[in-house]
Amino acid sequence: MRYRSTRSNREAVSASQAILEGLSPDGGLFVPETIPSLPCTPEQLADMDYQETAFEIMKLYLTDYSEGELKACIAAAYDHKFDTDRIVPLAKVEGTYYLELFHGPTIAFKDMALSILPHLMTAAMKKSGKNKETVILTATSGDTGKAALEGFADVPGTRILVFYPRDGVSAIQRQQMLTQRGENTWVIGVDGNFDDCQNGVKAILADKELAEQMNAAGLSFSSANSINIGRLVPQIVYYVYAYARLLREGEIAAGEPINIVVPTGNFGNILAAWYASRMGLPVHRLLCASNENKVLCDFFATGLYDRCRPFILTDSPSMDILVSSNLERLIYELTGRDHGRTAAFMERLAREGSYQIDDSMKERMKIFWGGFATQEEGRQEIRRVFADCGHVMDTHTAVASAVYAQYRRATKDDTKTLIASTASPYKFAPSILRAIRPEWEEQREKISDLDWAFACAAELSRLSGTEIPSAVQELRGAPQRHKLTCSADQMKQMVRDVLKI
Ligand SMILES: *Cc1c(COP(=O)(O)O)cnc(C)c1O
Repeated sequence: MRYRSTRSNREAVSASQAILEGLSPDGGLFVPETIPSLPCTPEQLADMDYQETAFEIMKLYLTDYSEGELKACIAAAYDHKFDTDRIVPLAKVEGTYYLELFHGPTIAFKDMALSILPHLMTAAMKKSGKNKETVILTATSGDTGKAALEGFADVPGTRILVFYPRDGVSAIQRQQMLTQRGENTWVIGVDGNFDDCQNGVKAILADKELAEQMNAAGLSFSSANSINIGRLVPQIVYYVYAYARLLREGEIAAGEPINIVVPTGNFGNILAAWYASRMGLPVHRLLCASNENKVLCDFFATGLYDRCRPFILTDSPSMDILVSSNLERLIYELTGRDHGRTAAFMERLAREGSYQIDDSMKERMKIFWGGFATQEEGRQEIRRVFADCGHVMDTHTAVASAVYAQYRRATKDDTKTLIASTASPYKFAPSILRAIRPEWEEQREKISDLDWAFACAAELSRLSGTEIPSAVQELRGAPQRHKLTCSADQMKQMVRDVLKI
């Protein structure tokens, strides 16, 4: 299996090269030359555990990794760092299945890919035979940063720099990043929003002069953002695994199509679900759920992608995004794999802030249904589900859950449905408390946002009868090690300073 760029007919590269490079030098994203079919029937998959499923799926994409290499990466990633053997348990709530993707070390779904990416990358470095140090550049809206830092901390031959929007992450997310250990880690707060951070990182990765200077210094860049194909592939696994579990537990019949609802930001998670469907997983509809930054919802309704609108800070910060990078991979497929047209759309997006797709492309994306939920609707959904059955969900999952309820009302479709549950509610405890116990906030005294987040976590634990995850407990009193900040246009200089080039 080789990987092409979405923006040119530059020669295709191997999986390990695509993972090392992150982004194609022409600014495009790497895509597999073909989408493989599922390696065995869902019934056969139903007998496999998570690690075995991961191997069966990933070996189809990462063909230049040996069986031994791939198995070692999988074993090192999906181990006791996860607080359950199932890795991704399913919770059945009011007849709907919540696929809990937050049982890893940083309690958000980013762990699913970022616990394996460093292993895939170090294996790729060995294969390349080049004795270079890899510098991972990452923009984060909150969850990616911590998961990437955790994955790459003290990994030999790597350094990692994370840029996050200073005012765009939760107190817990900030504390998670600022307390990160590891001599090869840097965390930098940017005066700007996530799109500023992501654009800055993309510009640095595409800077030819900087790349040459890096080369001379024995360094090379890569990305841990979801533009890296090494993140997309591991994310396909859990959709296949979840389907197989539903089958095994008798919740669905073999071949029965399901809906999948995904709270979406950068379009990585839902794109993985789309790949799974193209591999042959029986999927009826993919529901793309947005918060008030509803560019994607409008896109699926009209075919117009338009980022020219105010950026809204919400209580689901990991979805506060106006330019969803991974959509480029879908656009490429919708054009019939036409790199010229894809590049033209992306150029228009960069220059004018929008592009419009034609009817034949729209026809090809009918499997998607876009919806959005306001903060108030998300809050009501958290309150309603908690009141009805005691299940607490986080603010991102609540957006998906609320959009699914809208979809049911609009379509009367009663296909069995899987909702991607992307974060632990403890990561956003103040927002959860505001939903389920609004009067609680009146008790807030003059304490920092972080102390307030801890107080809310304790109250959430009391109300829900669930334990505060150790990932949150251990942040209390942990020393903040990272103090760097910069403006969006200083990001490149910051990279030079940190790397001393
Ligand atoms: C990153 C993230 C999302 C959005 O996922 P994308 O792959 O960027 O669409 C949703 N919820 C949470 C909690 C996240 O961390």
